[in-house]
Amino acid sequence: MSSNKKYWKSVEELNENSSIVETLRNNEFVEEIPTDEFLSDKEALSSSSTTRRDFLKYVGFTTAAATLAACEGPVHKSIPYVLQPEQIIPGVADFYATSMFDGFDFANLLVKTREGRPIKIENNTIAGAKFAANARVHASVLSLYDSMRLKITKVAQKDATWQEADLKIKASLADAKTKGGQVVLLTNTLASPSTEKLIAEFIAKNPTAKHVIYDAVSESATLDAFEAVYGERALVDYDFSKANTIVSLDADFLGDWQGGSFDSGYAKGRIPQAGKMSKHYQFEANMTLSGAAADKRVPMTIANQKQALVKIYNIITGSAVSTRKVDNEDVVIRAAQQLKAAGSKGLLVSGIQDKNAQLLVLAINQALASEAFSTIGTRQIRKGSNEKVAQLFADMNAGSVHTLIMSGVNPVYTLADSAKFVSGLKKVKLSVAFSLREDETASITNIAVPAPHYLESWNDLMLTKGTYSLTQPTIRPLFSSKQFQEGLLSWIGNSADYYDYIKANAVSYTNGASWNQTLHDGVAVGASNGASASSADYAGAANSLAQSKPANGFELVLYTKTGLGDGQQANNPWLQEFPDPITRVAWDNYVTVSKADADALKLENNIVANGGLNGSYATLTVNGIKLENVPVIVQPGQAKGTLGFALGYGKKVGLKEEMQVGLNAYAFYAGFNNLQSASIVKGSGEHEFACVQSQKTLMGRGDIIKETNLTIFNTKDAKEWNTIPMVSLDHKEVPATSVDLWDSFDRSIGHHFNLSIDLNACTGCGACVIACHAENNVPVVGKSEIRRSRDMHWLRIDRYYSSEDTFAEDNEKKENFDGLFGKKGSLGGFGEMESPADNPQVSFQPVMCQHCNHAPCETVCPVAATSHGRQGQNQMAYNRCVGTRYCANNCPYKVRRFNWFLYNGNDEFDFHMNDDLGRMVINPDVNVRSRGVMEKCSMCIQKTQLTILTAKREGREVAVNEFQTACSAACSTGAMVFGDVNNKEDQVAKLAEDKRMYHLLESVGTKPNVFYHVKVRNT
Ligand code: SF4
Repeated sequence: MSSNKKYWKSVEELNENSSIVETLRNNEFVEEIPTDEFLSDKEALSSSSTTRRDFLKYVGFTTAAATLAACEGPVHKSIPYVLQPEQIIPGVADFYATSMFDGFDFANLLVKTREGRPIKIENNTIAGAKFAANARVHASVLSLYDSMRLKITKVAQKDATWQEADLKIKASLADAKTKGGQVVLLTNTLASPSTEKLIAEFIAKNPTAKHVIYDAVSESATLDAFEAVYGERALVDYDFSKANTIVSLDADFLGDWQGGSFDSGYAKGRIPQAGKMSKHYQFEANMTLSGAAADKRVPMTIANQKQALVKIYNIITGSAVSTRKVDNEDVVIRAAQQLKAAGSKGLLVSGIQDKNAQLLVLAINQALASEAFSTIGTRQIRKGSNEKVAQLFADMNAGSVHTLIMSGVNPVYTLADSAKFVSGLKKVKLSVAFSLREDETASITNIAVPAPHYLESWNDLMLTKGTYSLTQPTIRPLFSSKQFQEGLLSWIGNSADYYDYIKANAVSYTNGASWNQTLHDGVAVGASNGASASSADYAGAANSLAQSKPANGFELVLYTKTGLGDGQQANNPWLQEFPDPITRVAWDNYVTVSKADADALKLENNIVANGGLNGSYATLTVNGIKLENVPVIVQPGQAKGTLGFALGYGKKVGLKEEMQVGLNAYAFYAGFNNLQSASIVKGSGEHEFACVQSQKTLMGRGDIIKETNLTIFNTKDAKEWNTIPMVSLDHKEVPATSVDLWDSFDRSIGHHFNLSIDLNACTGCGACVIACHAENNVPVVGKSEIRRSRDMHWLRIDRYYSSEDTFAEDNEKKENFDGLFGKKGSLGGFGEMESPADNPQVSFQPVMCQHCNHAPCETVCPVAATSHGRQGQNQMAYNRCVGTRYCANNCPYKVRRFNWFLYNGNDEFDFHMNDDLGRMVINPDVNVRSRGVMEKCSMCIQKTQLTILTAKREGREVAVNEFQTACSAACSTGAMVFGDVNNKEDQVAKLAEDKRMYHLLESVGTKPNVFYHVKVRNT
């Protein structure tokens, strides 16, 4: 029986006579629907005769129209060639040999262009082209497409033409000539015979003119010492491959010391061959790439290093200059004795910015008759003179400079006392800057001329004496730029263009090679005589050095980071996002402090709940200049009493807001000396770092980075130092690599790609990371996304510290854990192992998709978006991917990257993929991924397929070692070797058989196609 219960919504309903009740009864909705709000005119609506049928018609039509409109893809206009250039085949890349030098970095290159766009930098491997590209040079192709470049000439900060500017400059030069006013050409080191000749001609026509060379990061002390002894202002081009014993005092020769590019020679001596490898001692204040690679690294203040250098000088030359005692003196003596024993196979290098120290370096290497030290073919890449630069600024302030023409320099940013330069500039009658960007200097000069990028320019270079390189344009100038050399030609009244000028000069340098041949090869090697040494007062230098006073307070050691170098490319998002190889921090500079000093000063680093790294702020004071809110990184291995601070950051003019990160350490670079006395106190607040690796140590997991020492390597069976993990199978211990859940395919047919990574040769330089970025259109995500661990790098260089002094001691400690609790318990023990030692050993390990033959990612993908290729590559079908991210969770190597956002054409990610100019760098052979899909290393499948198809088209087999990936091609140390293991002649096939070979996490049974080589230290 149904209930008679009455239900009501409001008391009003109980009143039968209420009009509201009546309304409610007849209407579905209590309130009137505001149709007038969306149909605007209520009157018209009530008188409308639209029937239900019409209504459905309209709805149907508009729904269909909206659906069709939504289906329309974005319109990309492509304009065909009206007259197709003969040399360009759409879809086929062209390569041009060129060389670059920007006053700091230099390299011999091949530039890959697609349909007229340079898109990738490769190393020129032809004989004679000896300088490979570092991370910054690889990234320089993106700087070509920098939307913040200076695009048009400015006169008095207003748009003008080059002709107008040229007339003003000529008038000023004529005025200077008449009045006897000083004309100064202020440039970076040029290393260009034609430019130097042009400058000589300019000075001949303008007798009051002079040329001043200014290197933002000075090598003046070394140049002064070399010039004093050898009569030539140059640097030694050390050949580290010829040294069996290397002793370095604060010379980061695997970084930017004296221009860098020593890594390939060094790596040759680091691969154990016939039981031998070089022995490397490193004494340094900051933790550097060279320190990380050393067999014995000793953290030491610069003051103590000066004493150590004199001690080494005493032992090598038999002198008896008295010195102060230093910490770790036993290691210094041991290093000196080994150096002496090595004789001509020994080498000593130093980065101490002191002429006396550099004189001792020359004396020691002369005494050793070091083969690695040769005065033939000296480096011409630094020529600056601190004295002459200081004199110029004094002259400017005295009002005695009439016309100042600058090229390739930005003193307002790079000078410690830039205010003095700015005040001097105001007294100069005409100031001109040829500059890529409207930077700190160009924005305040009377005339700013847009300089072309090196990929748009003609030039010649003499990077080392006797080796002639050509720079050729690979694209027409993107803007109305004018090269400094074209200006010089105009001012001396020479109507030739710079191309003709170089060509006319080239015959003196090409050693008989034709112009076309030199242009094709990029280099021509000629003969060069070595300079002979004159006598020098080495004993006096040693005495002065021994008496040098230690710093008051902390030693501040200024350095350049692998990412930004001297800061010229601060607007390059690839470089800003590049994690520092040592600290693993991107998008920042900071002061590095030792653990002991940090504890005393209460400076901290901590990992916060979201996994991000936070650090204290500090106030740094140097020479009375105070810099507040300097973020602090507590750096294992930093010498106690020293601080490190990177130059190249804190630029504010001529770059996007996102790139204006960090603080300008040049403010502390007084007297062009990288060593300053500093005081530091804790500030308030915490800095949020974008750090990509928060775990620091291996905690004794020797199966990730396998390390041993040379003695064990030479005397013990490989099973002992390259242990294979064992598992239990049918109650028997068997090697984990022999157990399989899956049936194996026959992989002996066709190509089977493998990538070999030698931990002995990898210096952590990161060239491979940027090359991968460029080749594979890897997006930049910015600082806040990196902090959320959403970096998109397909290839990362993990850096591990040991928790004891060595990785071997780590392993030993772990092996001796006994039970959970107590002194030897694993609970507390593992906790302790999380903290790196004060002076830990360091190892780098490049990790990318391991292309497992039994890939855990493939089995969990619900839509088969990731699957295995016949040639060993683990492939991603982006179109299939639905973004469940199961694969990333199941990957033991954590190499899969998820696109949280659309990174291209998105104002939230205003990097190169968000502007038309920046997008010109995109590689058309690789798609640009959208949001919601997983991406990762493909082993450059576009490159392997191209190699196969090229061989097929040419009717031949793929040549030995012809296969390359972007990373293997970029790696100048030979740490990465890619190839086909089915071709037994390929280098990779031989490396796969080496007794040092192991796979990462073998115990997981993934059977990767990437393998590593056990690191051997000569300890
Ligand atoms: S693998 Fe080669 S390119 Fe990459 S970081 Fe190591 S040395 Fe540099």
